Amino acid sequence: MMRALLLDVPHKPLRLAAVDVPTPGPGQVLIKVRACGVCRTDLHVVDGELTEPVLPLVPGHEIVGVVQARGPGAERFRIGERVGVPWLGWTCGICEYCRSGRENLCPHARFTGYQINGGYGELTLADERFCFALPEGYSDQEAAPLLCAGLIGYRALRAAGEASRLGIYGFGAAAHIIAQVARWQGRAIFAFTRPGDTAAQDFARGLGAAWAGGSDQPPPEPLDAAIIFAPVGALVPAALRATAPGGTVVCAGIHMSMIPSFPYDILWGERVVRSVANLTRRDGEEFLALAPKVPVKTQPVTYPLEQANQALDDLRAGRFQGAAVLTSG
Ligand SMILES: [Zn+2]
Ligand SMILES: [Zn+2]
Repeated sequence: MMRALLLDVPHKPLRLAAVDVPTPGPGQVLIKVRACGVCRTDLHVVDGELTEPVLPLVPGHEIVGVVQARGPGAERFRIGERVGVPWLGWTCGICEYCRSGRENLCPHARFTGYQINGGYGELTLADERFCFALPEGYSDQEAAPLLCAGLIGYRALRAAGEASRLGIYGFGAAAHIIAQVARWQGRAIFAFTRPGDTAAQDFARGLGAAWAGGSDQPPPEPLDAAIIFAPVGALVPAALRATAPGGTVVCAGIHMSMIPSFPYDILWGERVVRSVANLTRRDGEEFLALAPKVPVKTQPVTYPLEQANQALDDLRAGRFQGAAVLTSG
């Protein structure tokens, strides 16, 4: 048996339970979890905003652990090797999207901690083809946030294009990683937080933001692009108003509240609004190779596994800077 946190039904706290240790099937590895990041997407699952979880569910999709057993045919990783497991857990491999380098859009994809049990437990299974080798030099806790905040943030940064003045709305786990990459690339960062959240604004300046303020404030100069990490639809017109003609506003979260209507003038001038969905394995490989070069330093805020509900509450309320990570000691 092993300990795991189960979501029985949305809108209820996770329940600590003893469950059977799963057996790895063909191509799967059984992983002893050492750390698992807590992502805003987990909140959207627990809060019922993502409506297709497999229940009961073990959430968690920023998993760092070591291979404890291998199923038939699984030989990519050695027993005892450290691996990372991201949100993208399985794709069909044969649809138009999978065959054109866009497996992030596979309509049959299954996601870790959503349709596949994830890392809020002592052990988990993963398809070895979707696991990543992790860069050395990161502790387990430091590596966990790279696996979603980092690599989906990186996909969002690429989608923002060549912008030299980059706005970031919502300065949480993804922003604290991607701001470092963007600075290293020579871009200027303009950080927007909840109005009055001076702690987050100080945190952003500490990571090299040229300016930090509330999302209700205009930036001191027009942005070339903006990335919205906060799940707040009203930020879309706000970001468009802050962005110069030709600029792109990237919505990087999986869920957002309703976007209010807005006048066409703020989109006019070839501004673009787009979303970023999921990740491809290539995104992961690129980002995990890049992170140690920058080098990206993550700031994990650790909680023991059994305090997952507290970690989720603290994330919802914006009570910490950096990235929450569960450790299963
Ligand atoms: Zn995530
Ligand atoms: Zn597919």
